[in-house]
Amino acid sequence: MAMRIAVRAERLFDGSRMLADPVLVLDGTRIAGVDYDFPPPPDALVVDLPGATLLPGLIDTHLHLAFDASPDPVAALATRDDDAALRAMGVAARRALRAGVTTVRDLGDRGYLALTMRDRPGHLPTILASGPPITVPGGHCHYLGGAVAPGGIRAAVREHAERGVDVIKIMASGGTYTPGTRQEDPQFEPGEIRAAVEEAHQHGLPVTVHAHATKSIVDAVDAGVDGIEHVSFWSADGVDVPPPELIRRIARQRIVVGATMGIRPVPGVQPPAKVARRLPLIHANLHRLVKADARLVAGSDGGLSPLKPHDVLPRALPLLVRIGYRPAQALRVLTEVAAEACGLAGRKGRLARGFDADVLAVDGDPIEDPAALCRVRAVFAMGSRIAAGVPPPG
Ligand SMILES: [Zn+2]
Repeated sequence: MAMRIAVRAERLFDGSRMLADPVLVLDGTRIAGVDYDFPPPPDALVVDLPGATLLPGLIDTHLHLAFDASPDPVAALATRDDDAALRAMGVAARRALRAGVTTVRDLGDRGYLALTMRDRPGHLPTILASGPPITVPGGHCHYLGGAVAPGGIRAAVREHAERGVDVIKIMASGGTYTPGTRQEDPQFEPGEIRAAVEEAHQHGLPVTVHAHATKSIVDAVDAGVDGIEHVSFWSADGVDVPPPELIRRIARQRIVVGATMGIRPVPGVQPPAKVARRLPLIHANLHRLVKADARLVAGSDGGLSPLKPHDVLPRALPLLVRIGYRPAQALRVLTEVAAEACGLAGRKGRLARGFDADVLAVDGDPIEDPAALCRVRAVFAMGSRIAAGVPPPG
């Protein structure tokens, strides 16, 4: 039997508050229990982390392992065969893990490579994957292989289900990184989105829809989707102020709002101008959703540019506070709420007996100082200790 590990630290975030002097006991891949101000069990290997805060491993609900966070990740992926792509995806996944992102949901790869990664043993985060996102011919991310002809969306969902995906991702509007598409334009007819949701639910799979355009968001809500990514209410010349009833419907239907968050500052690199000038308005809309008590999670879209490496999620914390969460609620968004949204409730997102032994230890108290979330002291993934620290870019 593997030795139990007792992690001693100064604080522990239990999902709603900070508790002092925790002793967190890991037994294999699970958490055996948490005690406070108590000697560690005599049979356990003790890991002392003075001054540190223990948190559940973070969960990035939206990234792309196949994009390498270079200046042109689409072109870089095109030069790689599947073996080379898998190697680069391993680098990306381990980078996320070292930052304490112990679960990632890949919402778009090429040829189901993320499923191959998911099923590989080794020091990787827990991976959930959608496979190639379903799109229209020439549509957003068509080069990932998920384009379907008119009338073909049900068959595409079935194929994804047969391949064993965890979630269905549909590109309901155009996107930033596909020339020839427009964020403000829907890609599918409302009936096609409905058919896809019906088919996915028959297979027991949730559907999350990439939707910038207000019309695409409305179509997704009407279709009864489980999640909407970006939710920017993007218009041709700016950002729409959504009708209050639409905000209320998103909240009432408990649709997961996948807010896109987390930017690493890189000298001389800016987000695309059309994104940068809309960001304050997009954040104002996210604030409206928070005030309406919508079910919001943070996905980094990691991999899309040098500003979005795969370990960027902890940097979403200050923005979550800016759009209306108290710091403790914001930490819960990155952990327990994200776990529920990904279908992992009861398994991940909390430090409690019986949960997976996914732990992030950081230096300081991230409730007092959000930057502390980036100061990694230790990471455990399914009970294995991971070497901390961020590798050089590349
Ligand atoms: Zn994305």
